[in-house]
Amino acid sequence: MKIAIYHNNNEQTLAVTKQLTTLLKQHHLVIDNDHPDLVITVGGDGTLLGAFHHYEHCVDQISFVGIHTGHLGFYTDWRGYEVATLVDKIATMQPQLVAYPLLKGVITYADGSPNDEFLALNESSLKRLSETLRIDVYISGEFFESFRGDGLCVSTPTGSTAYNKSVGGAVLHPKLETLQMAEVASINNLVYRTLSAPIVIAPDDWIDLRPEVADDYVITVDEFANNNRPLQQIHYEIAKERIHFARYRTHRFWDRVEGAFIGSKEHNNEI
Ligand code: NAP
Ligand code: MN
Repeated sequence: MKIAIYHNNNEQTLAVTKQLTTLLKQHHLVIDNDHPDLVITVGGDGTLLGAFHHYEHCVDQISFVGIHTGHLGFYTDWRGYEVATLVDKIATMQPQLVAYPLLKGVITYADGSPNDEFLALNESSLKRLSETLRIDVYISGEFFESFRGDGLCVSTPTGSTAYNKSVGGAVLHPKLETLQMAEVASINNLVYRTLSAPIVIAPDDWIDLRPEVADDYVITVDEFANNNRPLQQIHYEIAKERIHFARYRTHRFWDRVEGAFIGSKEHNNEI
């Protein structure tokens, strides 16, 4: 098995990364950052997002395990000080592999230039900061609503605890095969009427956003943001590719949610 290490550059991370590298070598595990089977991230959830995009081209062939150098995250099962236990497990056991949905986006431009496609692990949003943005929303090809406001956010189940949650979306269990669309500050009046609630689509549904023609909106894809040329449509569907996580111990999603957002219980690290 070939292992890649992907890390951020803060001081604590660099110390853990050094220890991790030494331990992997001691266990005769091969480090190969170009063609890995397993990607170990060291940092935060944001670091795992970075690793996902770095290895996006081969995401179906690899699995991820995350070490968090701060608090426990949603994509990170291990704490910095547990790196020796993790390496022992990697050397001696077969992990449980879990696969979660990704978001596929296809951008069609107003000038007819070639479409752009992307994958997102958390979410993609279409936003405008200067004025309000008008977007016609279609679900599975049928007109659904005319939105006016700051923007719309389409997220994966694992992304539901990120930006989606901040804009009032529901937290979804990542085993669900779905996407969620949440509104960002919609205006509701006699002309523009939206559902004013997040929606969760069926596995074979898709969402098309057709904004008014303008050149000052922003398309976000996870940690990236683009100021794009006028677009005709963004199409969102569940990607064929999935992200795989290697679990070397129990992961209880609702405990993780409680630990991250409520924090009223005592936790050990096994959540
Ligand atoms: P960032 O601005 O450094 O991170 C924003 C925060 O979101 C960090 O605390 C990050 O955790 C956390 N996070 C990332 N993915 C998460 C997930 N799936 N569930 C719960 N929390 C999550 O940027 P970043 O670290 O590169 O992350 C990019 C993400 O930030 C975007 O995909 C978006 O979801 C989120 N974001 C949120 C808001 C908002 O809530 N208003 C605004 C912009 C972006 P770590 O500290 O462990 O990295
Ligand atoms: Mn971050």
